[in-house]
Amino acid sequence: MRIKAAVLRQSGLPRPYTTSRPLRIEEVELAEPGPGEVRLKMAAASLCHSDLSVVDGVRPRPLPMVLGHEAAGVVEAVGEGVDHLRVGDHVVTVFVPMCGRCGPCRDGRPALCAPGNAANGKGELIGGGRRLSQNGEAIHHHVGVSGFAELAVVAACSVVPVDKAIPLELGAVFGCAVLTGAGAVLNTGGLKAGGTLAVVGCGGVGLNAVMAGKLLGCRQIVAVDLVPAKLETAKSFGATLVVDARANDAVQMIKNATGGGVDVAVETAGALPALELAYEITARGGTTVTAGLAPPDKALAVNQVRLVAEERTLKGSYVGSCVPQRDLPRFLALQQAGLMPVERLIDRTIGLDDLNDALEALAAGSALRQVVTFPA
Ligand SMILES: [Zn+2]
Ligand SMILES: [Zn+2]
Repeated sequence: MRIKAAVLRQSGLPRPYTTSRPLRIEEVELAEPGPGEVRLKMAAASLCHSDLSVVDGVRPRPLPMVLGHEAAGVVEAVGEGVDHLRVGDHVVTVFVPMCGRCGPCRDGRPALCAPGNAANGKGELIGGGRRLSQNGEAIHHHVGVSGFAELAVVAACSVVPVDKAIPLELGAVFGCAVLTGAGAVLNTGGLKAGGTLAVVGCGGVGLNAVMAGKLLGCRQIVAVDLVPAKLETAKSFGATLVVDARANDAVQMIKNATGGGVDVAVETAGALPALELAYEITARGGTTVTAGLAPPDKALAVNQVRLVAEERTLKGSYVGSCVPQRDLPRFLALQQAGLMPVERLIDRTIGLDDLNDALEALAAGSALRQVVTFPA
């Protein structure tokens, strides 16, 4: 069937994106769902920094590609062998398909699913191949989702069913920003209630980390960013100290204010200086978590003896080390209970045609979550 979708054909186009318009709204062909797959009628898909990283080329992906990976929709058709999802179910997408059978999946670490990540790297579905094309030319899937489209065929193991009472434009944000940000604190960082937290990078993911700290009753939550407005927002979400990352004495200021550093520091900016700062403001014995996706050629220099003698832990966090089928409903319940005001991250809802304007706003640092909504 023919559907409308936002296609990226070339990365690295210059800003402003309002002029270069990297995402073209095109008619593409969508194949029927294969075995283990479902077709979703998309309800909402929000724009995330990792969409921008594909557009600007920081995260190279095979092109052309239909972008969008933080999405929610309604199951419209089910392929052969899908017995746990039914037509009409509401689902949120997750950006790593989880096979359930490989080593990491069996270990309870589905973010590391081997076939899931291999398929994502190739721009294919985990079942192999692509279901998107145009005039015979294959179009790649973005991390198994490609949510900036009226309909999507995805693997059944790329979605988590959610209660029909949840507004889907809110649900979409849980698929990436909430799992990544809250998971980095609660799962990867293992922060204890009443502890101390720092969050370096206060976009949509970072603010979820701040919310997780607030919900743990952290006695100190330090927020660091380059954009003053984001620091103000972080304060409104529970940050107790906000620091401009460019301040010369940022590290010393934070160490002084926290008695030598924080228990857990989470980096979400995807930039090496942000990780360096997060490492420096982690207390002796503490844990530094990096959850931002930095350019592939960047490397962190770590002083080995300090790592040993100060018993430091440095951890990567992908999908917030979550088990999405377990954690996404838990985080939604916290939001519903008023303990994680994720709804406040949504700046505006837009149409597919507004995506380039939205990309520019995101790149300019003036937006948290802009959600494409589709007519019912
Ligand atoms: Zn994302
Ligand atoms: Zn797996």
